[in-house]
Amino acid sequence: MKSMSRNIAAAFRADFLFDLFGGVRVLTPTVALEAFSDVTPELLIKYNIDAIILDVDNTVSPPSSQEIYEGVEAWLDKIKGMGIEIVICSNNFKKRVYPFAKSIGLDCVAMSFKPLPFGFIRAKKKLSVKPKNVLVIGDQIFTDILGARLAGMKSALLIPRSPERGATIRLRRMMERHIRKKLYGEKYK
Ligand SMILES: [Mg+2]
Repeated sequence: MKSMSRNIAAAFRADFLFDLFGGVRVLTPTVALEAFSDVTPELLIKYNIDAIILDVDNTVSPPSSQEIYEGVEAWLDKIKGMGIEIVICSNNFKKRVYPFAKSIGLDCVAMSFKPLPFGFIRAKKKLSVKPKNVLVIGDQIFTDILGARLAGMKSALLIPRSPERGATIRLRRMMERHIRKKLYGEKYK
């Protein structure tokens, strides 16, 4: 099973996907960062960002946990203080996303089916800005980054920091490897 998923991942590896999608653009974030805390006021000003659509699992919280990474709340306060709107958009279930969003005082969209545009459209309805002024922050190229591109939004890719379980996520991570190496170089192992 493991070798089969590895073969599938190899067949669909980034080089092929780059060509299929007509170059690297749709799979390349606007910026590649290490963690949420690298999204600074200066960066938001530089890219003309007025609103943020924020992923949850492995972006601001360990996967499927109600815990929050240290420093997230202070970071959110700083950004909200700039007048930037923030909405959570996650592919995870309501029972995971709703209580988490409530605990940090943010509006949210659950079961968003990223990279399909429906979730981002639902999230965008909660915001009052144009897509090009929205920054999608997330840890997955094939959901957050691809979805942002398809929705005409900017994107910040993060490095996942908590361990993950499940065959589908492992497959997606294998498919990401090549692109991440290009983006992060030695920083990404
Ligand atoms: Mg995530």
